[in-house]
Amino acid sequence: MSGSNQRIDGKRLWDSLMAMAEIGATPKGGVRRLTLTDVDKRGRDQFRTWCEALGLQVRVDAIGNMFARREGRDPSRLPVLFGSHLDSQPTGGKFDGALGVIAGLEVMRTLNDLNIATEAPIELVNWTDEEGSRFGHSLMGSGTWAGIYGLDKTYALKDAEGVTVGEALEGIGYKGEHAAKPFPADAYFELHIEQGPILEREGKEVGIVTGAQAQVWYDAVVTGQDAHAGTTPPSARKDALLTAARIIDLVDKLMRERGDDGRGTVGWLQVVNASRNVVPGEVRFSIEFRHPETAVIEELAAGFPAMAEAIATANRTPLELTQLFKIPHQPFDSGCVDLVRQAAARLGYSTREIISGAGHDAVYVARSVPTAMIFTPCKDGLSHNEAESIQPEEAEAGAQVLFQAILARANRTL
Ligand SMILES: [Zn+2]
Repeated sequence: MSGSNQRIDGKRLWDSLMAMAEIGATPKGGVRRLTLTDVDKRGRDQFRTWCEALGLQVRVDAIGNMFARREGRDPSRLPVLFGSHLDSQPTGGKFDGALGVIAGLEVMRTLNDLNIATEAPIELVNWTDEEGSRFGHSLMGSGTWAGIYGLDKTYALKDAEGVTVGEALEGIGYKGEHAAKPFPADAYFELHIEQGPILEREGKEVGIVTGAQAQVWYDAVVTGQDAHAGTTPPSARKDALLTAARIIDLVDKLMRERGDDGRGTVGWLQVVNASRNVVPGEVRFSIEFRHPETAVIEELAAGFPAMAEAIATANRTPLELTQLFKIPHQPFDSGCVDLVRQAAARLGYSTREIISGAGHDAVYVARSVPTAMIFTPCKDGLSHNEAESIQPEEAEAGAQVLFQAILARANRTL
């Protein structure tokens, strides 16, 4: 009943990961499987084919989330969910998202092989558009499902070519008939690569994720005045890029003041009508802060805008700062986290408790369903990069922990 002698098939898991990585494979060994494109459709079709070959019922909701269900012995029990996402960044890796989905598939295959009937039904999920790189809205599928994003507003989002989410869903045949809203579920488990260096640095095989960081994101627009680079003396300059540079420095300083847990990033910046001999008149950029503690993010959200404003005023370049969102620290469910901890301990893996630095579908799912995550190390902590890499035995360890945690939850005594 403990199930520690019930093993998933590491080779089969790896082979399926590599087969999925061929869909949208890039010359540099990565993956380009942008959400709701024809390549994404091929990934989804492959996933559906694999699921149906196992006798699973696949249903699709209105935002394209796919749920593959395996019935349990007790039809009155709520399903145990698990999964991740098959979409990738434009130059993404083979494992970000795909690991959680394909490991979930391996869980289903192993249960079939071993003829195990769980008490509760179980469902493997492929969430739509986790990455947000095409329509600018990450965690779209899980966020819509969780009721954080309205369906109609999400349908109307456009990509760079003007194609809407609604059109793209119809275009690939994945606008499903089931409502995109939370249904009662017993638990949600997600296996994911860490996307950071901590597990590798400490030589740990499995990360027990206890929650996700608090975050606050902004858009900034600085308006100065375009002026001739050769004729405009210091006293006459209203240099928008200089203001941006000083705000970037402020973001870095605020981050470093908060020690090793601090995160502050300007990852995107645009000089409007950039020209080498023109003093920049308008600059647009992104700002984000993250920290494990909600209080720290609240403190930054309360203090940072005025400090940035002061820099802009001193440079005589007005700043327009828009807060996009602010989310608190999301703790995961202690019961589910404990099942992950117990599974890893029983299997003898070296572990570490960790807070997720990245956003994940699990963070939104956790608002309505008891949730936990499992991390595997990845080489040099590198992700959102074609060189993203993990070892087959790392994938196997994570999938084995996922298997045990799901089994324990689905068979628990109520
Ligand atoms: Zn991911």
